[in-house]
Amino acid sequence: RDETARDEAAARRRWAELVALVEEDQRAYYELDAPKVSDAEYDARLRELEALEAAHPALVTPESPTQRVGGRAAAGFATVEHLEPMLSLDNVFSVDELRAWDARVARDLGVGGGDVGYLSEVKIDGLAIALLYEKGRLVRAATRGDGRTGEDVTQNALRIAEIPHRLEGDDLPDVVEVRGEVFIPVSAFERLNELQARLRERAVADARERAGARSAASRSFDEERARVAALRRFPPFANPRNAAAGGLRQLLDKKDGLDLEAGVARIEALRLYVHGVGALQWTEGEHAELERQSDVYTLFGRWGLPVSPHNRVVEGIDGVLEMIDHFGEHRHDIEHELDGIVVKVDALADQRRLGSTSRAPRWAIAYKYPPEEVTTRLVAIQVGV
Ligand code: NAD
Repeated sequence: RDETARDEAAARRRWAELVALVEEDQRAYYELDAPKVSDAEYDARLRELEALEAAHPALVTPESPTQRVGGRAAAGFATVEHLEPMLSLDNVFSVDELRAWDARVARDLGVGGGDVGYLSEVKIDGLAIALLYEKGRLVRAATRGDGRTGEDVTQNALRIAEIPHRLEGDDLPDVVEVRGEVFIPVSAFERLNELQARLRERAVADARERAGARSAASRSFDEERARVAALRRFPPFANPRNAAAGGLRQLLDKKDGLDLEAGVARIEALRLYVHGVGALQWTEGEHAELERQSDVYTLFGRWGLPVSPHNRVVEGIDGVLEMIDHFGEHRHDIEHELDGIVVKVDALADQRRLGSTSRAPRWAIAYKYPPEEVTTRLVAIQVGV
């Protein structure tokens, strides 16, 4: 019995350690847009936590990161309550795990293997946004936050070219909460980093000029210090996801001069693909019959919302596996970064039957590709970049 008690105590200690690490990672990633560890390291920590909780169910609390949506609204933003919770996605990391998930879905729906209709989508590496339209007019845009409460980013969303201020058409609902991913395309990301470099040069030049104006002998100008300050002010962005998150979540009206120029460029680089629907209410008249999530996308497209061209409707998991293979090979051939494939049960009635946990829907799963960034970063470190 002593041994069991010791095991339990060790598990509890490791659990507390992992929770603290994951919470610290989440704060850096979601609130500060400055991750401290790679996504693969973060995913590994979360997986270890899940395994530990599976082995020691007494450790699970509602506050555990395995039970809730990561992220919190950052200071400085007004907060908004989502009409319906914005959840995360469960992950699988191998084809076997994906097949096991598919078998569970088929069993829970009481259909044969191979018979579930799926919507297979590219997992866009950006950040989630909820757009609330009332009678076709955009009234609010919010980040996911902790899933219930997000940050109000309406002012910034209104500046994103692809987010319509008004939906088109005559079959518009009274209320619709459109969900999607805001991202920066790879090509725009490269241009943004070039702009950051130019802004650093201009900030140094400004500082030199100011120093020159202060003393006739501009020898007093500390070039090195000005360069460090410029690097801190206009740092190169680590990846499109963080640049997008910081771009959407910035307080533009508090900026001026070069900072405003950088901020506006970052917002103008943002794009959107819609990938879900929250609240949807029609009170009167005829409206479109929606049986499948793919029907919702067709309607979104008609209303003028951008739908990803990479989505596929497939019968059974084999079609999804083809897409996984395809994008495994052509990961860098599309306009944005992707870290996986999202699989969704297409029929809305089946989605409702399967329901959700506190963290994620049971009718969707994200297949994650093996990480590439670890090796890239190691190489970068080795060659001293
Ligand atoms: P997630 O990114 O794994 O999945 C949920 C999100 O996927 C949704 O909220 C949505 O925004 C997005 N998404 C993209 N394309 C989609 C599509 N076609 N359909 C539906 N949703 C789509 O989950 P998460 O909880 O947001 O965060 C976990 C991710 O963030 C992981 O990739 C993790 O590695 C990373 N993360 C990293 C750190 C770190 O420190 N490096 C910390 C926290 C989270």
